[in-house]
Amino acid sequence: MKIIAANWKMNGDFEFTDRFVREINSVAPKNVIVICPPAILIGKFRDFRHQIGAQNCFWKESGAFTGENSPRLLREAGCRYVILGHSERRSIFHETDDIIFEKYKAAAANDLIPIICVGEKDPKNREEVLERQLAPFLKEPLRKAIFAYEPVWSIGTGITPTRDETEFALEFLRNRVGDVPLLYGGSVNGENAAGISQYKNADGLLVGGAGLKIEEFKKIILI
Ligand code: PEP
Repeated sequence: MKIIAANWKMNGDFEFTDRFVREINSVAPKNVIVICPPAILIGKFRDFRHQIGAQNCFWKESGAFTGENSPRLLREAGCRYVILGHSERRSIFHETDDIIFEKYKAAAANDLIPIICVGEKDPKNREEVLERQLAPFLKEPLRKAIFAYEPVWSIGTGITPTRDETEFALEFLRNRVGDVPLLYGGSVNGENAAGISQYKNADGLLVGGAGLKIEEFKKIILI
């Protein structure tokens, strides 16, 4: 059984969400499915038979933080998971490794399972970047968490790392974070999902664009 998480970004709308919930409810994957829609769509998943996650959270319970969502509210809204440290959050919203670590602690304290994304912009710097991004998490025993290896150069490009590269990165993570689930993310589609999910140390996949194509997503979750 694999974990298949989908990061929906801002492209799903209300009508599409209803259709998606109906269609995905009608198949019976043996894998754990986690859909992470924009926060405003979370309520549309009330009848969903699978898991819901958020794409981000703040690190405080409450207070004057306009525009943010607390882990507690996400949990109350029905989320079980939250993606943290996605490369778009790191680059566009300037999230640092320490901020991501604060969010991880807040999420875990509120019973959300954080899906922490790590990955390099340039394959030449893979080890150095992974080491830096993981460093805050290695200072104390890890609570509940999932790590996703997402090489930035693979996200939305249709290019995936070789099997050797992916297995190297997953083993690098495994040696540091231990026995927590590890996902691969970056240009996963209906054709490559089954193969990648069999790589050593791959406990599942984090899907972006293909999560918004119902027939393609069905293929992925039915691997
Ligand atoms: C992502 O945004 O996390 C992602 C993996 O995107 P894609 O599958 O479209 O490359």
